[in-house]
Amino acid sequence: MINSNQSEVWFVTGSQHLYGDETLQRVAANTEVMVKALNDSPEIPFSIKLKATVTTPDQIHCVCKSANNEDQCVGIIVWMHTFSPAKMWIQGLKILSKPIAHFHTQFNEEIPWSGIDMDFMNLNQSAHGGREFGFMVSRMRLNRKVIVGHWKDSNVRQRLGNWMRVATGWHSLQHMKVARLGDNMREVAVTEGDKVEAQLRLGISVNGYGLGDLQAHLDEVTSRDVEEMIDQYSEEYTISDAVQQSQSLKDAAKIELALKSFLTTGGFEAFTDTFENLHGLKQLPGISVQRLMAEGYGFGAEGDWKTAALLRAVKIMDVGLTGGSSFMEDYTYHFSKDGSMVLGSHMLEICPSIAKNKPHCEVHPLSIGGKEDPARLVFNVGEGPAINLSLIDMGNRFRLVLNEVDVVEQERDLPQLPVARALWHPRPTMEIAAQSWILAGGAHHTVFSKAITTEFIEDLAEISGIELLIIDSETSIRDFKDRIRWNEVYYHSFQNNL
Ligand code: MN
Repeated sequence: MINSNQSEVWFVTGSQHLYGDETLQRVAANTEVMVKALNDSPEIPFSIKLKATVTTPDQIHCVCKSANNEDQCVGIIVWMHTFSPAKMWIQGLKILSKPIAHFHTQFNEEIPWSGIDMDFMNLNQSAHGGREFGFMVSRMRLNRKVIVGHWKDSNVRQRLGNWMRVATGWHSLQHMKVARLGDNMREVAVTEGDKVEAQLRLGISVNGYGLGDLQAHLDEVTSRDVEEMIDQYSEEYTISDAVQQSQSLKDAAKIELALKSFLTTGGFEAFTDTFENLHGLKQLPGISVQRLMAEGYGFGAEGDWKTAALLRAVKIMDVGLTGGSSFMEDYTYHFSKDGSMVLGSHMLEICPSIAKNKPHCEVHPLSIGGKEDPARLVFNVGEGPAINLSLIDMGNRFRLVLNEVDVVEQERDLPQLPVARALWHPRPTMEIAAQSWILAGGAHHTVFSKAITTEFIEDLAEISGIELLIIDSETSIRDFKDRIRWNEVYYHSFQNNL
């Protein structure tokens, strides 16, 4: 469903006329070599489009204006091969509305000790050209990514590719329509928030629908559609004959087809539901929501539109990466002197993109909501590093809270808990992580990802100007509390400009 090949970033090289035409020709030729090599490398997720070298304020203004107007362009990479006096960049940077990555690299890798002369020095000037450009971006208080390293280094390419993924995720937020089926779970605080401010800051448009709006789509589902859907379940999951022939699974398949039709018709990329508003539905959507997430839709339970939108953006970022991303909730603790852990799960709605093995499709009662037994996919989540990410509304700003965790193997069966689940050690410890998370006001709902890393979210926070509090192996409570206090002042002072 997600096709990020439609995105592109532009590569703009800065220079000036001081060095003569021959140098400018070499700048252009070298840029072409570099961009081609980047486009050919596996770390780069979609196309980098080469633009002409810019040498005047008008050219810079023009390329920035074009970048703004080109919908496919999700950001620009800027490189100073030579020195480009940065007053020339003011007018362009003033109007640029797309994310910037300052690629601080140099065409030549090592100094040619015996052959280095002034011609070489006039060409390989990133070391000071990049500083002149950096000053202007800092002077203008513009957020940007700075990537330092040689362009042939795969780690450097990886960082550039990851930033491109984030830029396209950000771009998707600018157009994203989020449907809320039903409202918020009654009296719950953290899933609420200012939808007007969310549209101003993030671009997302969040609107409510009744389950009556789904009814027309339910009515259109034929029994043949349902049979085909159940055949698909049987191919993809382990499923017993009894479940396969159950009315519950037929009802679940019907809900999936109706939800998909509703989302497609409305052009929605993310959605929420809540078990308190299920009039007209026989069961809480379980397997349907799980499969729609796997297809790339964002989802938040209990009306949680912030997590739904964030999950969709993460799923745009992680296309082609391994590991998967899901809606998640911190469910239950396992306190232990050997390292306390969190069991993460939800009533039903965990995305099978994070499954370790082939999921089991099962039907069991749900002791909440008063509806019929819902079908769901049951699986464990594989070991390895992951992140948990929460977006909350602090009243005067949005805040992202991130915790790095390590998912561990589940050595014990959970026969009485037929839901998808993950077991993890939060970094640095469960006790410090949970204390920090709670001090930061992080939600119980999260976007859980094994596909992306903290740096992705650092980039997203820079691009969006949203506060980010990170809890990782370095976190100490004392420093974390200070950061929260200092951020109150920083965001009070600097976050009034959109
Ligand atoms: Mn929940």
